[in-house]
Amino acid sequence: MADDSLERRVERLEGRLEAVEESLDRYRRQHALLLAEVDVDALEDPACPECGEGTLVRRSGLSWAKAVCRECETAWVLSG
Ligand SMILES: [Zn+2]
Repeated sequence: MADDSLERRVERLEGRLEAVEESLDRYRRQHALLLAEVDVDALEDPACPECGEGTLVRRSGLSWAKAVCRECETAWVLSG
């Protein structure tokens, strides 16, 4: 019976860990987006927060702006 309750505790902890990992991933992406926004505006040769290798280029149209990585082609939508 001790094993059962331990198993349940582990399951609960695993569930929580998954939720935390999801949050971390979300925060990491938000952070990357902020970095991209700052970098693209402030630096001449901003590094991609996603792959760390490519440089970001700013692409924009009438109502949108994006930072796009030349290497991995990850794109961040920039506000304004
Ligand atoms: Zn990249």
